[in-house]
Amino acid sequence: MLKKQKPAARTAQETSDNQPKISGKQIWPVKLTREIITRFAPSPTGFLHIGGARTALFNWVFAKKHKGKMLLRIEDTDRARFTREANEAILDGLKWLGIDWHEEPISQFANRERHARIAMELLAAGKAYKCFCSSEELEKMRQDAREKGLPPRYDGRCRNRSRQDRDDAVHVIRIKTPENRQITINDAVQGQVVFKTQNLDDFIILRSDGTPTYMLAVVVDDHDMKVSHIIRGDDHLTNTARQIVIYEALGWTIPAMAHLPLIHGPDGAKLSKRHGALGVDAYRRMGYLPEALINYLARLGWSHGDDEFFTTGQLIEWFSLEALNKGAARFDLAKLENLNSQHIRRSRPEGLFESMLSLAGELGQTDDKAGLENNRQAIMEILPELQPRAKTLLELISLAQFIYAPLPIKIEEKAARHINEQTRQMIADIALRLENIKDWTPQDISMAVRKFGDDNSIKLGKIAQPLRVALTGRTVSAGIFEIMAVLGRDESLKRLRDQAANQAATD
Ligand code: GLU
Repeated sequence: MLKKQKPAARTAQETSDNQPKISGKQIWPVKLTREIITRFAPSPTGFLHIGGARTALFNWVFAKKHKGKMLLRIEDTDRARFTREANEAILDGLKWLGIDWHEEPISQFANRERHARIAMELLAAGKAYKCFCSSEELEKMRQDAREKGLPPRYDGRCRNRSRQDRDDAVHVIRIKTPENRQITINDAVQGQVVFKTQNLDDFIILRSDGTPTYMLAVVVDDHDMKVSHIIRGDDHLTNTARQIVIYEALGWTIPAMAHLPLIHGPDGAKLSKRHGALGVDAYRRMGYLPEALINYLARLGWSHGDDEFFTTGQLIEWFSLEALNKGAARFDLAKLENLNSQHIRRSRPEGLFESMLSLAGELGQTDDKAGLENNRQAIMEILPELQPRAKTLLELISLAQFIYAPLPIKIEEKAARHINEQTRQMIADIALRLENIKDWTPQDISMAVRKFGDDNSIKLGKIAQPLRVALTGRTVSAGIFEIMAVLGRDESLKRLRDQAANQAATD
């Protein structure tokens, strides 16, 4: 695949010859009366990275909002790197996020003959030409340009070369980029961005082996897919200028454009692995909910007043391209975690339970998977108590473990100090009282424990923690009365008695 052109660094002030001009004016030329068709066009890199997921999200939300379609095109022309697994990983990431697409994914590679035909049509129409320059010639051209302090562009020497005698020689096909013109991108996010064609050169559209370049393939595919809006990262802006040259040569309608500012790390540098720029699957394994990641990704580049928390439904309702931010977004894991805890708190226990189960399975936590499966009802009952205490699904699983923890309950290191001879005696006495209560409900258990405290002049705070540790092995858990209610009388008393009798472990 042709290496993507590096975009020129841009700022609104830079208007020198080598830089595109950005007016900052918001221009939105396409009426939304056309059928909205967006596309997500990932290269199958083996994982759906955060930036790609955000691009997919905005394409999807925009299409949903306007009752249009989002298509999926896999840019799989680099056959040396292509694998089915790499492709599946992208689809899995999208599916997990709940981002769906219309129709079968389109393979860019499968369209290569169509791309080549279009290159031939451009050639026949005199809009493109054969270039016979050898690699030595091209290298020399680049070197000369460097020596003169000019950018290394193709100088167009084959444009007017007679080709009669050389027609069969090895050649590429180059587009005739119009000379001394301006290419204007009317971008929904960036405003008007102007490129001078002298900075674009006659770039290659068909390689000497007859394969199309990325630049040509994208234009032909977007046209054939009837894409109305291209929403992608602003690292593609220079590509867009070149693609407009192809659109114009073919007389095709140029889709509306929206180029999203890239995501940066908290330190302001372009987001990379060292900032936690992982694939979405990594976030899934860390226990993030897809709706939290969607919420967070949307906030990375789009805003709706001061709203930080929103559901995917609200996002679709509120979304507009005009509200996309122009400035680079900063990735902040703490914010994601905070949103995740809010989404966990507001999730329905049924859905959360299924997510916990599948995560335990995915991570190979077989004890947790079995424990969850065998205690579905009890866990669903206690989940509303656990939800406000967990930032991730992993924490939620860990908070639910007490339900299926086997005897003797394993005591966390920092919890051990709550168990000593005195508290063990207290636990034994409380167990005796609890044997006789009529209704095993949080209310009645609470009354009995409080009464024990009153009778023995012990504050509830001094009772709760040893009980909690005896029941769960931890210092943090759901409310102890709810815990006992959900464990049931037999299991609760078993745990209390076991702890009361457990001399050796703690003395
Ligand atoms: N395959 C390109 C990428 O992954 C996207 C191309 C496009 O959106 O036009 O960056």
